[in-house]
Amino acid sequence: MSANSTIEWTDATWNPVRGCTKISPGCKHCYAETFAERFRDVPGHPYEQGFDLRLVPEKVAEPLRWPKPRTVFVNSMSDLFHDDVPDDYIEHCVNVMQRADWHTFQVLTKRADRMRKMLQTKLAFANSLRHIWWGVSVEDRKYGLPRVDELRSAPATVRFLSVEPLLEDIGTVNLKGIHWVIVGGESGNGARGLDPSWVRRIRDDCARAGVPFFFKQWGGVRKSEAGRMLDDRTYDDMPERASKPIASKQSRLAMIDQVERELGTCAETLVQLVVR
Ligand code: SF4
Repeated sequence: MSANSTIEWTDATWNPVRGCTKISPGCKHCYAETFAERFRDVPGHPYEQGFDLRLVPEKVAEPLRWPKPRTVFVNSMSDLFHDDVPDDYIEHCVNVMQRADWHTFQVLTKRADRMRKMLQTKLAFANSLRHIWWGVSVEDRKYGLPRVDELRSAPATVRFLSVEPLLEDIGTVNLKGIHWVIVGGESGNGARGLDPSWVRRIRDDCARAGVPFFFKQWGGVRKSEAGRMLDDRTYDDMPERASKPIASKQSRLAMIDQVERELGTCAETLVQLVVR
C-alpha cells in the first residue's frame, strides 16, 4: 500500500487485504504475486507470508489519514471480493470509503458475481456514491465478458472495465451502463502480445458510445520503450471525479477512532483470518 502509485490511472494504492489466488487466464503473470513472493520468509516484511491471502486490519483506516484528495486503487495487491475475505471485513473497508469521501476509490475485481451480490445487499448503502467506482477485469471473451454483464446488473453510480492484460480480440463489447474503459497489454517476462487492432476496436466502440477511454500501455518485455501512444497520441480520459470538502483533522481522527472500535468488535474473526 502506498500514498503514491506509478499506475497510470490512479494516484495511490490502499491494501487492507494482501495476497490472492488465481482465477482466470489474466492472472497468469500476476504482478502482485511476483512482487509478494520475492519477500516470502523475509522477517518483518509486509509480504513475509508471500502471496498467501491475509487481512491487514491495521490498514483499514488508512485513507482517513490522507488529507489530500487522491484517486485510490483499492487492493492493488489482492482482490477485495476474494472468497476468503469475510463479508463483515468487506463492509468495514467500504465503510471507510464512504466516510473518506474527499477521495475517489477505484474497486477492481475478478470476482464480479460476489461484488454484484454484495452491492445489492450488504453494500447497498454505498451503491449510489459517486466517489466509489466499481470495476471488473476483462482479459478475454470466456472469462472477461461475463464479468461485464455482472457489473452492468450491479447497482452502482460509476462502473468501469479494466481490459488488461488484453489477450485476444474480444469483439464488440456492450458498453451500456459502463462509464470508463481502461485498456492495456501485459508487461514483463513472458508477456503475451497485444494486437493494435484489438485496442482500436475498443477505442472506437467507446467513442461511439461516449464512454471515456484510457490507453494504459502496450506492455511487452520492455514496457517503457513500448510506451502508451496509440495512433500518434495518448488516451487519458476518465470519468469526472466527485469533489467533496476534506474533513477537518478533528473529524478525521474521530472517524479513525470509530473505525478502529468497529473493527475491534469483530476482532476474534479477524485474528483467525489474519494469522492463518
Ligand atoms: S485476481 Fe488479480 S490479484 Fe488475484 S491472482 Fe488474479 S491478477 Fe493477481
